[in-house]
Amino acid sequence: MSTDKERVLIAGGAIMGSFAAYYLRRLGFEGDITVIEADPTYVRSSTALSAASIRTQFGCPINIHMSLFGADLFRNITKEFGPDADIGFVERGYLIIGSEAQKAARSTGVAMQNAEGAQVAALNPDMAQKQFPWLNVSDIGIATYGLANEGWFDAWSLLQLVRSAARRLGVTYVTGRVDAVMVHGARATGVRMDDGTVLPGQWCINATGATAAHIVRDVLPPLPVEPRKRTAFSIKAPLAADNFPMLFDDSGAWIRPEGQGFIAGIAPDTAADPDATGDFEPSYDLLEDILWPALAHRVPALENLRMERAWAGHYEVNTLDHNAIIGPHDEIGNLFFMNGFSGHGVMHAPAAGRGIAEFILWGKYQTLDLSPLGMKRIRSGSALHETVVY
Ligand SMILES: Cc1cc2nc3c(=O)[nH]c(=O)nc-3n(C[C@H](O)[C@H](O)[C@H](O)COP(=O)(O)OP(=O)(O)OC[C@H]3O[C@@H](n4cnc5c(N)ncnc54)[C@H](O)[C@@H]3O)c2cc1C
Repeated sequence: MSTDKERVLIAGGAIMGSFAAYYLRRLGFEGDITVIEADPTYVRSSTALSAASIRTQFGCPINIHMSLFGADLFRNITKEFGPDADIGFVERGYLIIGSEAQKAARSTGVAMQNAEGAQVAALNPDMAQKQFPWLNVSDIGIATYGLANEGWFDAWSLLQLVRSAARRLGVTYVTGRVDAVMVHGARATGVRMDDGTVLPGQWCINATGATAAHIVRDVLPPLPVEPRKRTAFSIKAPLAADNFPMLFDDSGAWIRPEGQGFIAGIAPDTAADPDATGDFEPSYDLLEDILWPALAHRVPALENLRMERAWAGHYEVNTLDHNAIIGPHDEIGNLFFMNGFSGHGVMHAPAAGRGIAEFILWGKYQTLDLSPLGMKRIRSGSALHETVVY
């Protein structure tokens, strides 16, 4: 157990850093918890710029379990954060389209997801057509649809909720930029700020999102986490948003309801997806060149869409295997990571935050065993590939 003399330093105070801080206090950490956030407006944080959706349709069981944990929290948000808590959680499935060639692998995937506790239906083209009459099923082999534990929410509200709750529990947020984690021997000793100030601490957590590699650059081999730009488009279309799912096409295009309209996006080709450090300019050409044609093919009513606005944020891509890096460093045991979520971090932040808090308090995970996502695999290069990525 912690003592009140201990101090946890958390670099980065968006969804990861805030959930770690919140659960530390809520589970009984008695020492000081200081969250250091470079930009308390969060305007460029991935959290504020995300599509804020949650799915259980993953290739790795650990990701399914983290999503189930998150969905349970989102569904019961008032139990955790009080009667006024509201993150606008819409529990509705992802509809993920697969080609004829993908049918066998996707069916196996659904069986695995359901065996792990998800509730996903595999639909043949006729069933998909019946349930979603606006869908072009002429060239599909399979469509999988989440029956529970999937949907979307307001990430900004979630961040404000957990941050406020953490502060009420005595967590301190300070504004400043961490330049580097300081390590002596096999111990992290604190952080150095960019003005040269040193903050000592017994525990350090890296929750700095897409730029996570920066603060450990001097003490570790390069962390394989890079910012990759993703553009989201807010659109209006002559299509009812009620009962419309989070649709993921086999082209890579996605679209879901948002307010009275929709938001949509598509990842650029790998060759056109460089390290995006500092680049937050939306890639407008993606809409005209690949997104709109793909959407109009899958949903003919989207021939007539109108773009209202667009924004770009950064995925924090783990270039080794598209999976998060969570938990302590395997040699520097008081240095923790919550990085590389590769575009599925908001949904996994509750489970990641709780896991980090448990490990600091009890030296091992209690609720979910997050060790498959640990640093050891990164250092040994033994990738745990997440295949269901967009
Ligand atoms: C367009 C888009 C769509 C997405 N859609 C989804 C989705 O549908 N579902 C989902 O689960 N995820 C989604 N994501 C991914 C998700 O947003 C991220 O995985 C998640 O927000 C990561 O949270 P974070 O706290 O690690 O990073 P961030 O939210 O980026 O927060 C990091 C914080 O650290 C601060 N910081 C950085 N460096 C320092 C430093 N040196 N010192 C102090 N502070 C520092 C930053 O100011 C920032 O506030 C999407 C992302 C994008 C861009």
